[in-house]
Amino acid sequence: MAIETGKTTKEMLAALQRGDFTSEALTRACLDEIRERDEALGAFLSIDEAEALAAARETDRKRAAGEPLGSLAGVPIAIKDNINITGRKTTCASKILEAFVSPYDASVIAKLREADAILIGKTNMDEFAMGSSTEFSGLQKTRNPVDPERVPGGSSGGSTAAVGADLVPLALGSSTGGSIRQPAAFCGVTGLKPTYGRVSRFGLVAYGSSLDQIGPIARDVDGVARLFQVIAGHCERDSTSARVATADVLADLETPPAGLKVGLPVEFSSGDVQPEIKAAMAKLVARLEEAGAEIVEVSLPHTEYAIPAYYLLATAEASSNLARFDGVRYTHRTADAANLRDMYVRSRSEGFGIEVKRRILLGTYCLSSGYYEGYYLNAQRVRTKIIEDYRAAFAKVDVLLAPTTPTTAFPFGDRTDDPMSMYLSDIFTVTANLAGIPAMSLPYGADGDGLPIGLQLMGNHFQEAHLLRTARLVETLRD
Ligand code: GLN
Repeated sequence: MAIETGKTTKEMLAALQRGDFTSEALTRACLDEIRERDEALGAFLSIDEAEALAAARETDRKRAAGEPLGSLAGVPIAIKDNINITGRKTTCASKILEAFVSPYDASVIAKLREADAILIGKTNMDEFAMGSSTEFSGLQKTRNPVDPERVPGGSSGGSTAAVGADLVPLALGSSTGGSIRQPAAFCGVTGLKPTYGRVSRFGLVAYGSSLDQIGPIARDVDGVARLFQVIAGHCERDSTSARVATADVLADLETPPAGLKVGLPVEFSSGDVQPEIKAAMAKLVARLEEAGAEIVEVSLPHTEYAIPAYYLLATAEASSNLARFDGVRYTHRTADAANLRDMYVRSRSEGFGIEVKRRILLGTYCLSSGYYEGYYLNAQRVRTKIIEDYRAAFAKVDVLLAPTTPTTAFPFGDRTDDPMSMYLSDIFTVTANLAGIPAMSLPYGADGDGLPIGLQLMGNHFQEAHLLRTARLVETLRD
């Protein structure tokens, strides 16, 4: 009998435990699905077949021998290709890193190994995580699993497409301004951007270091919670890692939070939001009220400055983070260079794609003397105002509810020629990264074309347990 790869993590764990099938058989089933369907989808950049099968056999052996097993024992997972795995390529979907092989494991990968998860392969993304559609991958095209003529969102589009297409039950993504929630919304899956500092960034290729977080992607809230539980926690190797204990997010996941107060930020409902997304919001609000939640309107008055501030700060940080890719180490080196300077210039010009170059130029400009105060420093001031907006909101409510995106998945080529329109796809997601708060997207219905709608919940710093319980409640209030 063929194994159904569309099961949730919880169902897979139960089936493995009951002995319905082995992890080896499950891993083979996922690999078969990938072989059959991923050529059209384009979610994966590389597959680690031999290692995945060996790891699966090892968990089967441990299970048979009655040895202790990790919490994700035998479950396949896909990894975004900006997260390092020993002996595996980390391309960041860039030509400049196409041949780079990582000599070490990211901390999240070490934790996944301890949890006995099966690392299946690496997923496509916008180059260096810069983009909102995965169209800026320097290596391949990824299609939306619901409609192949549309983008999967980005930058973690390979990871969300892999889960959305039922190739794997779990994936890791990373978010600097929305790269987990936005593609999760477009692909009809669930994703969480944790609190800044909650998950180690050691081994994640840096984009905007003050904003970056690795986070879980799954078919449902339970899967997200299980994966979050494994990857969260303090890490000695990341100086920005928080020393805040992680609660057991699974313990009360099924218990709806009592006396729930949900805030609706007025700034997130004004402007151009697709009518079907507005309708989905209204439906959920009504159901939350019926379920006993109190709904309160709140204001985050500095939201209108979030996109400009984000694209100044993220590009400023990116311009210095990407300086290390210079043709000397790690990367592509030009074949013909007249001298050292020429070697740097040619290697970088040949290796980086258009969007990455645009970001480096923007970031360098806004950090340069004469412009630094006007751009970078003011963007930092706006960031502080946004943090204060959220602090004031969370004094009144427990969680905030908003659309994840203003529209559902758009067609290929729709926004690639107009950077501003691409940047605006992140309008509802960047503020959580700027404020450092946890935020998630979960599917809530579909539009007239059957494209998934994602709604977003935001929580206060380090309140992932509460956020996930609220998300679980929302899941039960779906059609
Ligand atoms: N789309 C946003 C950007 O291009 C966010 C990307 C991300 O979160 N990595 O910067």
